[in-house]
Amino acid sequence: MNQNAFQEALNIVSQRRIRAKAENERRYQEINQKIPEIAEVNYQLAQTASRILMGEDIEILKRQNLQAQRYSAQLLTNHGYPADYLEMHYTCEKCQDTGFLENRYCDCLEKLISSASIEKMNQETHLQLRTFEQFSLEYYKGIFKKNAKGEEIDCYLKMKKALEFCKQYAINFNTNSSNLLFFGKVGVGKTHLSLSIVTEVLKKGYAVIYDSIGNLLSQIEQEHFTTEKTEVSTLQMVINTDLLVLDDLGTEFQTAFTKSTLYNIINTRINKHLPTIISTNLSRALLDSQYDERIFSRLYAVYEIWEFLGEDVRRMKMQEKRSSQYL
Ligand SMILES: [Zn+2]
Repeated sequence: MNQNAFQEALNIVSQRRIRAKAENERRYQEINQKIPEIAEVNYQLAQTASRILMGEDIEILKRQNLQAQRYSAQLLTNHGYPADYLEMHYTCEKCQDTGFLENRYCDCLEKLISSASIEKMNQETHLQLRTFEQFSLEYYKGIFKKNAKGEEIDCYLKMKKALEFCKQYAINFNTNSSNLLFFGKVGVGKTHLSLSIVTEVLKKGYAVIYDSIGNLLSQIEQEHFTTEKTEVSTLQMVINTDLLVLDDLGTEFQTAFTKSTLYNIINTRINKHLPTIISTNLSRALLDSQYDERIFSRLYAVYEIWEFLGEDVRRMKMQEKRSSQYL
């Protein structure tokens, strides 16, 4: 999959370069018409190479060129144009839209490969986006549940707060946003609210990866043990994406490899200050018994923890559907 993403990224970079060149030519034509004196200066500048070949003194030519450039900039500003109007303007000045710096990828190319890969990845996992507007608090009305501390909680109030928090989180999202850990039983709205955050954050133009932990880890494991190395590995993308949303922690098949990979992902993203949202159906006690302490001691310290409480909304919706058939 990444070979395609690489090709796509290269195409974008070369389109940028072509566009920069075309725009530069257009500006030359415009200026040549509007300010004929510049056309003369530019003609002189264009002759430099052949004058060098004909054996003219390079130092003198350099001086003349510098003067000509200054004169040209002066004429531009006199006519109300920016002094650098006729220079090349690249999207990425660092690599001049080639995508390469000496023999490594420029950051701009890496970023493009990454977002193209992420787009493809989300297509492959058939990411179904949800919205906050589709989230109904009706299902939580009149329901009381005990939280992890054993306190009786009004689920409606609790989830109203969670909904508001997630909305604000999405609105204010940036790559310094906090990490979130969603606890809660199946069907209480963790996935819906995570996906609503994903929708908003994608709209803001950030790169987002959303997947179940099981899927993601098996993908990473597959790549790890195949000899053919792709351009950008899933692990690299997962570590570098602006927002990572990991669903269903605790349902994955656990091996030494998956555990150390999970630790690596969580830890590296904390160190890079990149936000991650994790959701799990397991209780905190079960999580603690399944994983190394080193994963979770760090996680509990750095993540903002939300406990979702309610009845299984999916089941309630199914029951509603069924009973409406008999009305
Ligand atoms: Zn670049």
